[in-house]
Amino acid sequence: MKASIVLLPGDGIGPEVVAEARLVLDVVANRFGHTLDLSEHLIGGVAIDREGTALPEATSKACADAHAVLLGAVGGPKWDNPEAKVRPEQGLLGIRKHMGLFANLRPVKARASLAKGSPLKEDRLMGVDFMILRELTGGLYFGQPRFTEKMDGGGERSVDTLEYTDGEIRRIVRLAFDIARGRRGHVTSVDKANVLETSRLWRRVTVEVHKQYPDVILAHQLVDSCAMRLVAGPSDFDVIVTENMFGDILSDEASVITGSLGLLPSASLGEGKQGLYEPVHGSAPDIAGQGLANPLATILSLAMLLHHSLELHEEAVAVEGAVEEVLKMGAVTSDLGGKLTTHEVGEAVRQALAS
Ligand code: NAD
Repeated sequence: MKASIVLLPGDGIGPEVVAEARLVLDVVANRFGHTLDLSEHLIGGVAIDREGTALPEATSKACADAHAVLLGAVGGPKWDNPEAKVRPEQGLLGIRKHMGLFANLRPVKARASLAKGSPLKEDRLMGVDFMILRELTGGLYFGQPRFTEKMDGGGERSVDTLEYTDGEIRRIVRLAFDIARGRRGHVTSVDKANVLETSRLWRRVTVEVHKQYPDVILAHQLVDSCAMRLVAGPSDFDVIVTENMFGDILSDEASVITGSLGLLPSASLGEGKQGLYEPVHGSAPDIAGQGLANPLATILSLAMLLHHSLELHEEAVAVEGAVEEVLKMGAVTSDLGGKLTTHEVGEAVRQALAS
């Protein structure tokens, strides 16, 4: 097939891990006979330095025209000033908005070979394999009004607004049911329906959408008890779907289960097949430029790209299989107890993929 993919290396270890994924993509194209048009663009701190904005026009346009986007990471101490008008994360928020992405997907899978790195006991990790879908465009992060004001008689008052429409809920819940169909057929919808009006709407819409998916089992769970169950019995979950802030917190909680940030991929999807794929970790300025970064989260993000945006399922499974092989061999970077460099791990994946 022919497809165009935009690479956004970004800052810190971003360029190092994206370079390895790019080489993996070359092997996929060769082995399976695809023509992939790859182009690199600026985002984040590096874009601020060169163009004065975290999301240059050329980047937005290239991403809008591409089949999929693979991003490294943005940010770092050089640009870490919450008061600054131009900040690296504006690039990420801007590109998600520009591409109409409303669902963030994070798969969490425990692996026996890495169980020692997890804060959970080994028996809790057996069979852990779930996916969190976080709503990205609504909720507290975007609701209006939001302000801080001085109060008569002294002191200050701040307001944020939690807002959802039925349409925003319907489209992500539908995606959750679709994804569950390709997995173990179980959706847990997480809310706070005993307290919040938006959660009551969330639950009503979820029940309504579920009628079109009688083959999928639906469970409702309050966010506080879900936070407990994620560590007490994480293998109970298959697909978890939730609103923006609950998803932000739960997906970070879930990310420690696997024992390594360097292994967690993510995807952000919209209505069509187009998507933005990136590792969960940040730009890791403490190890940038030293060849210490684990490239596997980015390579697994690439596998998600092949699967969701290009529908190249065999290719995606081959990349995932190559990563599993490398993990079993112990050909890993120091965060996983190995001695290899970023490039050597990438090379090990490519050899496993080519053989
Ligand atoms: P981080 O994820 O960059 O790093 C946390 C720790 O994990 C560090 O010790 C780092 O060395 C390690 N680590 C992360 N990725 C690794 C990898 N692939 N291999 C080996 N070790 C890895 O989080 P942070 O330190 O809180 O943030 C650093 C910068 O990244 C900040 O400027 C932050 O704003 C930004 N950030 C960006 C994104 C993004 O682009 N999506 C996400 C999170 C943080």
